[in-house]
Parts: sequence; structure tokens; C-alpha cells
Amino acid sequence: LSKDLESLRDVDCETADGHRIPLFVNTGLMADVAISLDRGAEGVGLYRTEVPFLMQERFPSEEEQRQLYRQQLEAFAPKAVTMRTLDIGGDKALPYFPIEEANPFLGWRGLRVTLDHPEIFLAQVRAMMKANVGLGNLRIMLPMVSNMSELQEALDLVERCYQELLQEGHEVGERPPVGVMVEVPAAVYQARALARKVDFLSVGSNDLTQYLLAVDRNNARVADLYHAYHPAVIQALRIVAESGKAEGKPVSICGELAGDPGASVLLAAMGYDTLSMNSISLPKVKKALRSVLLDDARNLLEEVVVMDHSEQIQGALGAFLSERG
Ligand code: PEP
Ligand code: MG
Repeated sequence: LSKDLESLRDVDCETADGHRIPLFVNTGLMADVAISLDRGAEGVGLYRTEVPFLMQERFPSEEEQRQLYRQQLEAFAPKAVTMRTLDIGGDKALPYFPIEEANPFLGWRGLRVTLDHPEIFLAQVRAMMKANVGLGNLRIMLPMVSNMSELQEALDLVERCYQELLQEGHEVGERPPVGVMVEVPAAVYQARALARKVDFLSVGSNDLTQYLLAVDRNNARVADLYHAYHPAVIQALRIVAESGKAEGKPVSICGELAGDPGASVLLAAMGYDTLSMNSISLPKVKKALRSVLLDDARNLLEEVVVMDHSEQIQGALGAFLSERG
């Protein structure tokens, strides 16, 4: 890390005119913790629980999970840690739970799997809530929500875990906040209805881009068509930010786009409250945001939303930042 980026560790992430935008990190391994804290992360916006599951030979028990989650929560406490319920399927297959499908990204993945296997979901949420005892920094996030019924079913299971743990005498404290990932186009258009039911929204821009553009995020043959700055992606991101605001719920983004300095300026202008990224990207995003005035970022956004081509948008963001060093 260069000296100027390193010196940013202990300063707040805010625009040049003092608008705060806390930067969170995405984690999966315990190894991510030290570097995240070292880079000044203000919390975890996405803990991918499937990462530890991928390294096992069978489903970890509730107690094994509790210990894993406790480590994450303790390492960051009192900062918030957003734990996502298991997001397998798509490109992520557990060796001990094979899923064979012709179209995995449109198939059985994320919440769809765990609602069909509530025992997996319940063990996981119970383990999270038990791990949260005495800490209180847990937030729970649901992946791949594509309709309101799935959300309700998941919320009911979360509530059931909470009530059962209370009855069993665990000192689980307050019910942790629950949020939804917006990563399926349907969720963009239902963002207000979703926001009404939960405590926060977080955009999964990796999947959202893949599904909006119908471009497999891992297929090299169509990689040229995967445009992170596609005008349709920008519109969708704006809709989500405005929907969250309209319902008074915080909106975050935890896909790769959040770690892109140019995009971070646009996201700040749209009203995203926090950005969550790979810890590697954190210093450069902080540097970019600290160099801009929010009004300038908003003007840039107005220019960008009428552009028809990804390349134009990318060019405008690059020019905007290079003017500011
Ligand atoms: C996303 O889809 O943007 C996301 C953050 O989740 P994952 O990359 O784990 O699918
Ligand atoms: Mg995703």
C-alpha cells in the first residue's frame, strides 16, 4: 500500500464537503479480518457464509457454525457484521451437496435452496443468533430473493429461530436487523415492497449485472458483454437507492462495483448510505470519495444517466476523477 493510501486508514470516509459514506468490507475467511481492520473497514457488509462451508467435507453442525460466526462477530465488534445466509448453487457447489442443472444461474440457488431445506436455514440462523449473544452486532442478509413470498417465508423462519432461542433461555438480545439482497431484476422493481418488510437493502451488483444483461458472469466468451457501467445497470441502481430512501431504509451495495472508485462517486450521488467491497479496494475508494464534492457528484450523475453507452459512462467517470487527482 502506498504511503498516501496508508495514511487514509484512520480518517473518515466522507466527501470533501463532509457527507459520510462508511466503507464496509466483504469477507469469507478469517484471514480477511486483519487486513479489513487494518484498512479501516467500518464493518462487514457481506460475510459470505458459503466460503467456510466450501472448505468442509459435510455440512457444519449448528455448534460448528456458531463458533465460526462468533469469530467473525467478535473480530469486528462493535462494528456491524452482515452475515448472508447460504448462497450456494449457480457457480458455487458444495462437494457434499451436488446440484446438477442445465442452467444453474437460473436454477436452484441462494434462498431457493435453503427454503426447500429449512433445516439448513434454521441451523444457520440459530447459529448466527447464538454467536451474537453478548455482542449484538449481527445483521442477517438474504440472497437471491425474487418475490415477496420467498421473503415472507424466510422472515417467518428467522422469527421462529429468534422465538425458539428465547424460549430455550439463550440471551440473544434484540432481534437482529434483516435485509434483502437486490440482485435479481424483479427485486429492483419490487424494491419498495421489499424495503417495507426489512431493515435494509443491499445490491448484489455482480448478479444483478449478469441477470440484467443476460451475460454469465463467469463465461469468458461473453465477458466483453459484461458491462459494469451499462446504462441499464445505472438505472437499476438508481431505482433501488430511491426505493430504499422512499421507505426510509438504508441502502448499500456489496458487489464488485462498490470497489470501483469511479462508480463509488456515482453511488454516493445516488444516495447509497454505505458501500461494501473487497478490502483491497477500500483505500482507493476512500481516496476518491474524499476528493469530491457531493454536488459535483450529483451533477456527474445527471450527465451520466442520459448516456446511452457504457463506454461513455466509463469515460466520464474516469475524466471526473482524473481532474481531481
Ligand atoms: C453479488 O452478486 O453482487 C454479490 C455480492 O454476491 P456474490 O458475488 O457472492 O454472488
Ligand atoms: Mg450474488
